[in-house]
Amino acid sequence: AMLSVARPAAAAEPYLDPSLPVATRVADLLSRMSLDEKIGQMTQAERASVTPAEVTQYRLGSILSGGGSAPSPNQPTAWADMVDTFQNGALATPLRIPLVYGADAVHGHNNVAGATIFPHNIGLGATRDPALVQQIGKATAEEVAGTGVDWTFSPCLCVARNDRWGRTYESFGEKPELPVSMATIIDGYQGGGVMATAKHYVGDGGTTGGVDQGDTQLSEAELRAIHLPPFQEAVRRNVASVMVSFSSWNGQKLHGHDYLITTVLKGELGFGGFVVSDWNGIDQIEGGAGFTASEVRRAINAGIDMVMVPTEWKSFISTLKAEVQAGRVAMSRIDDANRRILTKKFEYGLFERPLADRSLTPTVGSSAHRAIARQAVRESQVLLKNSGVLPLAKGAKLFVAGKSADNIGYQSGGWTISWQGGSGATTTGTTILQGIRSVAPQSTVTYSAGGAGIDSSYAAAIAVVGETPYAEGQGDRTGSLGLDATDLQTLATLKASGVPVVVVLVSGRPLDVAAQLPDWSALLAAWLPGTEGAGVADVLFGDYNPTGKLPVTWMQSASQEPINDGDGKPSLFAFGAGLSYSPPAQAPGRPGTPVASAVTSTTATLTWTAPTSGAPAASYRVYRGTALAATTTTTSVQLTGLTPGTTAQYTVVAVNAAGQVGPASSPVTVTTPPVQTGSSCAVTYAVNDWGAAFGATITIKNTGASAITDWTLA
Ligand code: BGC
Repeated sequence: AMLSVARPAAAAEPYLDPSLPVATRVADLLSRMSLDEKIGQMTQAERASVTPAEVTQYRLGSILSGGGSAPSPNQPTAWADMVDTFQNGALATPLRIPLVYGADAVHGHNNVAGATIFPHNIGLGATRDPALVQQIGKATAEEVAGTGVDWTFSPCLCVARNDRWGRTYESFGEKPELPVSMATIIDGYQGGGVMATAKHYVGDGGTTGGVDQGDTQLSEAELRAIHLPPFQEAVRRNVASVMVSFSSWNGQKLHGHDYLITTVLKGELGFGGFVVSDWNGIDQIEGGAGFTASEVRRAINAGIDMVMVPTEWKSFISTLKAEVQAGRVAMSRIDDANRRILTKKFEYGLFERPLADRSLTPTVGSSAHRAIARQAVRESQVLLKNSGVLPLAKGAKLFVAGKSADNIGYQSGGWTISWQGGSGATTTGTTILQGIRSVAPQSTVTYSAGGAGIDSSYAAAIAVVGETPYAEGQGDRTGSLGLDATDLQTLATLKASGVPVVVVLVSGRPLDVAAQLPDWSALLAAWLPGTEGAGVADVLFGDYNPTGKLPVTWMQSASQEPINDGDGKPSLFAFGAGLSYSPPAQAPGRPGTPVASAVTSTTATLTWTAPTSGAPAASYRVYRGTALAATTTTTSVQLTGLTPGTTAQYTVVAVNAAGQVGPASSPVTVTTPPVQTGSSCAVTYAVNDWGAAFGATITIKNTGASAITDWTLA
């Protein structure tokens, strides 16, 4: 409705002709734009501070939903309707330039009720799995696009160097290699049609004391070596936008830093997208409340193309206009900013498809996306201690405790439904407790948050403890990084029972646990896993053999902060640490070493005698001489000497030459009959593609009532 200016549908103007090159369209459009229209493109308002009619009147170029700012009710279709209503305001302007609508979809489309919430970046860093992270980006893009949102303020490519920082969990890890390798998430987002944002440029994770929005005091060589590489990689991957950091470099705010923004990012790195400021970020250039004309001038002249001015956008528009008219901001700078923004709007098809893609709305929280998230949870778990209590036996009598055991809000952390995150059933998902119950239905599982009722009849207690949600500076910590009094009390109650305690730590960073660690039989760092708590249970019960590796150095005490790999400080757990479950014990009677490291055919014979039913699992590793073309292969396992009535169960696990264990197949159970002496049974399994260095381990476990004499792999 609005001003709905009637226009012929025919694409009379070249900029509306999708068959023309983007540069031609941009040039044509720019030539038709007034100064007001150009300044409008550079302005981003917050959705709660603007109406669709104002979008039309002020020719606004962008709107955002800030952390947790959602329509009410907060449903996917309500989002799509909201965004479309704003978009129709933009389409009612004479030039019909579409808005670009942005939101913080930083671990899935986390502001939307029912969306799939993936692990926060620190957990993804632990997976060391860039291909999975790219899949996450793609799945997120579908959910984002299904709500009409065109642009996510993700990924945060910060290199978190001090665990005191409240944004540590937004980091893929403490070394530049991690965000560099995980920049594949950009391909996932953008391949899914959603613009990505590399943030926060640059050095946000390197501030002195780990203070959010603080000062990064480093030489230029250090800044370039530690904090710049992820942005270089993002530019290489053609990231659409870069968000400037609130922080300073050696005392100078990034929002006014023409050397770092214009000379380095746009010049040296060749960034062709547009630079967006952070929330009221320009206000901080000279300090004080609000922004001044000089701050607006300095920000734009430093190279910021679009300004996130959530509420004060009207005064920003008039201020920037006055600066241009006074000649203090050059028209060439305004044109450059517009060229960058409009180029992306054309490239992403916003002129052709400005409205929400309703065919994607049902993908929000879909089971396919939740399956990807569950796999990410499995791979993000880092096993730091295991006395042998893990994996837990399905069927064991278990006690679950801890404030984070049954809490979707806690396990998802900050940036979930609301900016700071919340407690309880804030959105749809499976808690860790629910995951435990669903993965091991054979087990009797008793739950009490505080541990009341534990006694020595239980096989193990699982304590799910850690941090409650926070975001940004509200998560900065100056003192210890220890467990809170609630958790310490719960752990003391469990300890008193004498039952082995498995600690699942739900946290955005390493915590001070050195003093309690001797009391624990196992420690699993779960990070902030998001909505798919069953992925944690998959690891606890050994359905997934843990592969996660620490993306950060784990301090002995917070007083060591900052502590990073290579700085010589003694850690509790080193960067890269992470245990797997030991390979199953070899069955007696097995001749020689069972691991055939150089079997060039898939035919190998195992002959050993498993002593009794329920004997320890045996494993046999098969390598092929050449890499598999496909990621799926079939091995037939031939069982010989089976007594009729025998049940054998086996799983297939991919292992590379370095011994890294990959995903396991589901267990396959065969019972004789039909599998008789000399017959065979095929199992199909997926192997990770590690290039030429790969292999597969066949784990065969006799779970039947009779002894098995011979097994043959064929
Ligand atoms: C954060 C950004 C975020 C923006 C928009 C700021 O406070 O620093 O990371 O993208 O808000 O919500």
